Amino acid sequence: MKGLAVEAAWEPRAGYRVSEFERRTGKAVTGNSVWRHPKLRFVDVAEGPPGPKEVRLRPRACGVCGSDVHFYETDPDGYMLYPGLTKFPTIIGHEFSGEVVEAGPEVQDLRVGDPVTVEEMIWCGECVPCRNGWPNQCLNLEEIGFTIPGAMADQLVVGAKYCWPIGALMKTYGTAEAGFEAGALCEPTSVAYNGMFVRAEGFKPGGIVAVYGTGPIGFAAIALARAAGASKVVAFEVSPFRRELAKKVGADEVHSPVELEKAGSSPHEVLMDASHGAGADLQVEAAGAMNRTVPEMEQALAIGGKIVIIGRAAERAPMYLESFQTHAAQVYGAQGHSGYGTFQNVIRLMASGRVDLRPIITSRYPLAQANAAVEKASKRQDGKVMIKMA
Ligand SMILES: [Zn+2]
Ligand SMILES: [Zn+2]
Repeated sequence: MKGLAVEAAWEPRAGYRVSEFERRTGKAVTGNSVWRHPKLRFVDVAEGPPGPKEVRLRPRACGVCGSDVHFYETDPDGYMLYPGLTKFPTIIGHEFSGEVVEAGPEVQDLRVGDPVTVEEMIWCGECVPCRNGWPNQCLNLEEIGFTIPGAMADQLVVGAKYCWPIGALMKTYGTAEAGFEAGALCEPTSVAYNGMFVRAEGFKPGGIVAVYGTGPIGFAAIALARAAGASKVVAFEVSPFRRELAKKVGADEVHSPVELEKAGSSPHEVLMDASHGAGADLQVEAAGAMNRTVPEMEQALAIGGKIVIIGRAAERAPMYLESFQTHAAQVYGAQGHSGYGTFQNVIRLMASGRVDLRPIITSRYPLAQANAAVEKASKRQDGKVMIKMA
């Protein structure tokens, strides 16, 4: 049994104070301040039996996420780029679907052979934030493929309560293979759903939605905005290839911020034009470039406009708060995808055919070439790079 692991050296940057939590758990809260000289390597996967309420899965499809790429890429000092919670070494891969191959004795709702997709956030259900209904802010959070073994492997064991059946996707898409691919897209789609509809509480049908950055989260945001009744979805993306894909998944207009600038324009001017001066009702940050996107967003706010921050970046963004006062506007921070019916609703949307993100899958690799898949994704020429297990 093999899986692709990230290994890195625990070398906190000069000036970074390692907290008591980090020392005790071995988890870095700010990964890019701690992990140095990361390497990808195939390792053996531990093969214990599943616990009473766990299942063993055979992954069938696993997407390469921007986070996986940020584990592998480094800054000039050799520190990995990913800024979040991490514990290495671990096997990576958290956007996946698979088949149940073994179920613990107390597992109620899953049977051997069931196809499932899985939450990446392993919330404990017992800490105060979990008990108060904030599973994505769990204090004892583990994350599949970040702090515990992930799915770029030929097997993994997970709690049954984090699994969601995807038999309906097999029916909609005609084959198990296509269903597993769609199933592997549920996690990033749920991240966009959580930000837009759980945290920011959505927009009214007919509203105008702007999406900054069309990586997989941005694509999902576009498709969800369309499914939720936006009258116009406007996206901004630097890659020409991704701009084409953004149209395929439902964007009405897609602009290059670089070309806009050359032409003496800007995203906010485009949005004010597209909305006849009314501004955008919901703006989604999925670029992880807040110091550039937020100043545009605040100039394109509708009255009561909302901004949701889903992209990640360990940096500050300038904000002119006066605009938020005059527009009765709001910024929402979002992370994760658990709770609130999110996975269930995303699977339903995909099964209904109202959201179909499979066109974003532009490269496919076998598990034995998972490292090449991460490298390919780092070139940023793809929509989604997918690893397929036979
Ligand atoms: Zn991800
Ligand atoms: Zn918790």
